[in-house]
Amino acid sequence: MADSRAAANIGVVGMAVMGSNLARNLASREGNTVAVFNRSPERTRTLVGEHPEAGFVATESYDEFVASLAKPRTAVIMVQAGKGTDAVISELVSRFEPGDIIVDGGNANFLDTIRREKEISPSGIHFVGAGISGGEEGALKGPSIMPGGSAESYETLGPILSSIAAIAEGEPCVTHVGTDGAGHFVKMVHNGIEYADMQLIAEAYDLIRQGTGKSPAEIADIFAEWNTGELESYLIEITAEVLRQTDAATGQPLVDVILDQAGAKGTGAWTVQNALDLGVPVSGIAEAVFARSLSSRPAQRAAARDLPGPSGDWRPDDEDAFVEDVRRALYASKIIAYSQGFDEIVAGAEQFGWEIKKGDIAKIWRAGCIIRARFLNRIADAYSDDPELVVLVSAPYFRDAVAGTQDSWRRVVAAAAYAGIPTPAFSSSLAYYDGLRAPRLPAALVQGQRDFFGAHTYKRVDKPGVFHTLWSGDRTEIETSPSSH
Ligand code: NAP
Repeated sequence: MADSRAAANIGVVGMAVMGSNLARNLASREGNTVAVFNRSPERTRTLVGEHPEAGFVATESYDEFVASLAKPRTAVIMVQAGKGTDAVISELVSRFEPGDIIVDGGNANFLDTIRREKEISPSGIHFVGAGISGGEEGALKGPSIMPGGSAESYETLGPILSSIAAIAEGEPCVTHVGTDGAGHFVKMVHNGIEYADMQLIAEAYDLIRQGTGKSPAEIADIFAEWNTGELESYLIEITAEVLRQTDAATGQPLVDVILDQAGAKGTGAWTVQNALDLGVPVSGIAEAVFARSLSSRPAQRAAARDLPGPSGDWRPDDEDAFVEDVRRALYASKIIAYSQGFDEIVAGAEQFGWEIKKGDIAKIWRAGCIIRARFLNRIADAYSDDPELVVLVSAPYFRDAVAGTQDSWRRVVAAAAYAGIPTPAFSSSLAYYDGLRAPRLPAALVQGQRDFFGAHTYKRVDKPGVFHTLWSGDRTEIETSPSSH
């Protein structure tokens, strides 16, 4: 099918919703000719038939697809993550030449991206793992793009990706994140933060609904109002839309007829699994993942339905003040979610040898992606003021923001406990904050316990060295390794 005279400067493999929208986005930019290919040719035929304006070079075999690309060839894979991606990579690698570029734009696990890059790079072909956020609309109109790969491949790829990315304050939402799996790693953390943000918003809704008895439509108005201030974000905006929706069949608010069991595609769990491996406490993100798991265990929930709740009936004294407390608690908890996410990015960069510029990541999340928010400018500023910032919440702006909201935050978490309203993300974020700022933690007692039952030893606050108490003997202390250790 391909016109042999047509040399496409870029190709896309995978014509499901993401790939076809990305191909249309690419084709709409000046100077691009886009070759398209899908395993089952019907999808390609439909797309090309529906969008003659795109001038696609339609192909129906890998040979034809590869032959239609100008050298050095650049192909973006947008197929089912995992086996689908591996299958397409092997077809392209066997036909590509040194200097050609393969971009995986799917939701790959970054460890797979590291493996694939290792396998492919000896051939001289560049492999780029690019996280793409924004769903189908983002792919079409401008996503946030997080590419990882060689600096050399980014010289070719950067201008193309910049031309299709979302624009925030005049800047394209794409940056060279780092080598091999860095882009997919950052996309994974983005999704983890997205889980936390969504859970926090859901808890805020639940607190207001149960605490004040306001209707979903009234709460939609509150969220719309919040969206004009420091909480302004895509997720707050769409929350208002969802809460305002009425179900056509029953006349009920739609949120009341949606089954309360949240699904997940796994990237939140990856974020938490990886944080556990790295030893990074992403408690807000973890609670958001677990909250979805709890919601999706109907047998356990049914078995627990009759368990006792609080004996008293809690109601706020002043509803307006309570709603404002919830807004502030949401902002403080959101700061913690992002602080924890960036903590994981820093730890991942250290572990895998990436030089990730945190401020640039905050900037490319300002538009195109699901967690886009006004607040990301503040994060970019914080890292630009202090590139070595150790923990985001300690930056002056965020420290002041939490200082101004923490009394509300504490009241809300206490109220939730009194009222029996589950707020795992609000509560764990506050516990994390208090743990982080504590001058002394009961970890000292945990070390004592570990030494008692397992002779795991401990360090002292007053002198160097490693020590053990002879718990089953005369309970004197011995030094177990030279103090120089
Ligand atoms: P998808 O449903 O994840 O995958 C379907 C596509 O994969 C079809 O084009 C299918 O071809 C192809 N495919 C599957 N196995 C294949 C194989 N062995 N060889 C060749 N092609 C194969 O599609 P999607 O929703 O458009 O997503 C594409 C990628 O983007 C995924 O990695 C997804 O995780 C990621 N992503 C999706 C979203 C979203 O909002 N949907 C957002 C960001 C990222 P056939 O038509 O021949 O079956």
